[in-house]
Amino acid sequence: MSEHSMTALIAAAQDREGNDPIFALNTEAFARVAAGESILNATMGSLAHDESGLAVMPSVTEAIAAVSPQQAAGYSLIAGSPPYVEAVKRDLFGDTELYDQSVAVATPGGSGAVYNAILNFVEEGHSALTTEYFWGPYPIIAKHLGRGIDTFRMFGPDGRLDFDAMQAGIDEQIEKQGRVLLILNFPCHNPTGYSLDTQEWQAAAEMVREAGARAAVACLLDIAYHRFGGPDADEWLDVVPTMLETATVIIAWTASKSFCQYGARVGALVALHREESEREKLLNALAYTCRATWSNSNHLGQLAVTELLTNPELKARADAERQELVDLLQQRVEVFNAAASVAELDVPRYEGGFFVAVFSPNGHVTAATMRDMGVYVIPMDTAVRVALCATSVQQVPRLIEALRAGVDAAETHEAAGAAT
Ligand code: PLP
Repeated sequence: MSEHSMTALIAAAQDREGNDPIFALNTEAFARVAAGESILNATMGSLAHDESGLAVMPSVTEAIAAVSPQQAAGYSLIAGSPPYVEAVKRDLFGDTELYDQSVAVATPGGSGAVYNAILNFVEEGHSALTTEYFWGPYPIIAKHLGRGIDTFRMFGPDGRLDFDAMQAGIDEQIEKQGRVLLILNFPCHNPTGYSLDTQEWQAAAEMVREAGARAAVACLLDIAYHRFGGPDADEWLDVVPTMLETATVIIAWTASKSFCQYGARVGALVALHREESEREKLLNALAYTCRATWSNSNHLGQLAVTELLTNPELKARADAERQELVDLLQQRVEVFNAAASVAELDVPRYEGGFFVAVFSPNGHVTAATMRDMGVYVIPMDTAVRVALCATSVQQVPRLIEALRAGVDAAETHEAAGAAT
């Protein structure tokens, strides 16, 4: 910049990372493909067929095409199209009491739901609490809102969720902040692939219930991948009533993964509370944030998803099409787990979902070594994230070979560092 030019950007905005690191690596991988290289790109969280690219559900395409253009062109209500938010609540809770205990607003995808949650349940200058491995945008969204993210150690020595660490994290936040927004991204946690079992869900709910008796506690269940978690994927629902005894439960719901509509930006933030007066406050607060941020969410998408959730024939077709994709992914998970075990890679329990993490003493060295071999994964400090949703079964041997080489390189690098 010349001596006389001056940026009009405020100080905090002057050195922003304009692109998400995942999108940036994906772009780099595509550039190498365009240059004629053979690249295995396991970066993006979009489900792809083995041969033919991004998976699209025909029922969804049909539902979008069938929406009345005039209806779609009009604004939806600020809080979302009423039939849409009702359909999302029914999708989650069916005819259970939880349906009556919930309110919801439409959001631009799960990202909008997370934004809305952090803004309304974390005081400025305070932090939300989540596992040490987390979806990268959480701290970006929090920072943008003048909030932060605190973390607790995710895995105990037995490889299960570290409840001692979670308890310590909650206690510390109660002491420091007098309140907690705990973010749990299960089933099919991004980036590790970990899903809680029944016992872990019960323990988590009990901890939230106990904390809620001492302070203002909200638990955000980010269930972006819940339709890909196999038959036990909705176990979290059974423990919501325990949390609700003392706490607020909020749910980030998205059509991005369940309906393979990442670009449509259709999501919802659902909030549950045992008292009606509090539900009214919750709905007002969440809708206010919609108005103050994106105004109305995508009407076309809401109308199409409403149809997909409520028209019995269309819903049955969508469920069957999704099941085929779940099966496709499951096949990859099984092949990956078997090969990772033979290659002695250190992976968490992985039963389904778009991603799995492979632990490494230095994820950045691992990912860089893999990139040299034409294989793209997402680096973290102590692991790399592998998008099996974007990796065919045929590519798994190449992926495993690169992971093994990448972890070996990181081990050598760390040993050399320790020796100097
Ligand atoms: N939460 C998690 C853990 C995710 O991985 C994603 C998407 O990658 C989202 C929320 C939000 O997704 P979207 O905004 O596309 O609905």
